[in-house]
Amino acid sequence: MVNERDTQYLLLTPGPLSTTRTVREAMMQEHSTWDIDYNSIVESIRSRLVRLAVRDDTNLDAHTAALMPGSGTFAVESVIGSVIPSDGKLLVLNNGAYGARITTISRMLGIDTVELAQAEIESTDLGQVEQMLANDPGITHVAMVHCETTTGMLNPVEAVGEIVHRHGREFILDAMSSFGGIPMRMESIGAQYLISSANKCVQGVPGFGFVVADRATLEATKGRARSHSLDLFGQWHEMETKGGKWRFTSPTHVVSAFAQALDELEAEGGVDARHARYVANQKTMVDGMRAIGFRTLIGDEVQSPIITSFYFPEAAEFEFQTFYDALKARGFVIYPGKVSHAQCFRIGSIGDVHPSDMTELIGHVSEVISEMGVRF
Ligand SMILES: *Cc1c(COP(=O)(O)O)cnc(C)c1O
Repeated sequence: MVNERDTQYLLLTPGPLSTTRTVREAMMQEHSTWDIDYNSIVESIRSRLVRLAVRDDTNLDAHTAALMPGSGTFAVESVIGSVIPSDGKLLVLNNGAYGARITTISRMLGIDTVELAQAEIESTDLGQVEQMLANDPGITHVAMVHCETTTGMLNPVEAVGEIVHRHGREFILDAMSSFGGIPMRMESIGAQYLISSANKCVQGVPGFGFVVADRATLEATKGRARSHSLDLFGQWHEMETKGGKWRFTSPTHVVSAFAQALDELEAEGGVDARHARYVANQKTMVDGMRAIGFRTLIGDEVQSPIITSFYFPEAAEFEFQTFYDALKARGFVIYPGKVSHAQCFRIGSIGDVHPSDMTELIGHVSEVISEMGVRF
C-alpha cells in the first residue's frame, strides 16, 4: 500500500523531505541565469530570507543574504572558509555529527581550531564555553549547530550567543535543520551568520544553501576566502551589486521551487504556524511510538520537533533493515541512526507531513513490529 500522494512514499527524513506537488511543479519553468525575471526571483528570495531571520523590521537593512550552490555543507564550508581571517581561531561546540563536520571543515582548511567536544546526548556546557573564551583571547569565532540532526537535540543558542557577544567574538550558527521550522531571530541569538539550505524546513528541493549575515560583519570579510567557488563575500557581492546574479551557473529549477516553497510557508501562516504543525507531528508520532514500547534517546526537555531518535528494541527479533523495508513497502521512509554509542533509528517530522500521516505511520509500525515477532 502507498500513501495517497503522487510520490512513491512519504519521506520522514531530515532532507530531502516530502515536498508539495506545487513546489515540484514550479520546476517545470525554465530560466536563463542572466535574465531579469530570474534575477528578480533571486532578489525576492534574498530579502524574504532576511525577513524570516530578523523579523524586527527596523533591522532589515543591517542584515543581508547570499545563496550558495550545493548541499548545506557547501554553505557551511563557504562561511567557515570565508569569514575567519588567516590569524583567526575557531571554537566549535560539538555535540554531534554536524558539529564534528564543522571541525573537520575548519581543520582541512588549515584554520586554527579548538573544540568543546561533548557526548551526543549532552546539551552544550555553558560554563565551559564561558571558560574557554575567557582563557583564550585568540579565539575570534564560535560555531555551533542549532538543532543537532544527529540526535534531534535543540542546543541552547541564545545562551551561547549571549556569552559569545559578551566576550566580543563572532558567532556562526548552523541552523540548517531548524530555520523555517522553529521561530528564531538573529538579534536575540546574537549570531552574525546563520546558515540553512533549500531542502529543510522551508520545504524546497535540494540544490543550494543560504547564509543570512550581519551586513557590516560580512562586508569586512573581503579577501579572506580560502576557496574561489565557495567565496561567500564574492558570491554575496555579485548578487548584491548585479541584482541577484550568481557568479556561476545557478540551480535555476531549484530556485523556482524555493520561491514557491516560501509562498507556501507564508500561506501556512509563517514560521509560527509551521512550527506548531511540526510540534503536533512529533507529539503524535512520539506518543504513538511510546505506546508501542519504543524509547527515545534524549530527554523531552531538549528534544526538537524536527527529528527524533529511538533506541532499537532489545528483542533479538528486531532487525533494522527488515523494519525499514517493511515500512517503506507501506509508503513511509524512515532514517537510520547516526549516534556513535547506541543503536538507534530516527524519524523526521518535517516536510509536507501532517499529524494524520503520523497516525497512519504508527498503525503500520505497530503491525510491522508484531509481524516481526518483537515483544517489548
Ligand atoms: C542537513 C544538515 C546539514 C547539511 O547537510 P547536507 O547533507 O550537506 O545537506 C548541516 N547541518 C545540519 C545540522 C543538518 O541537519
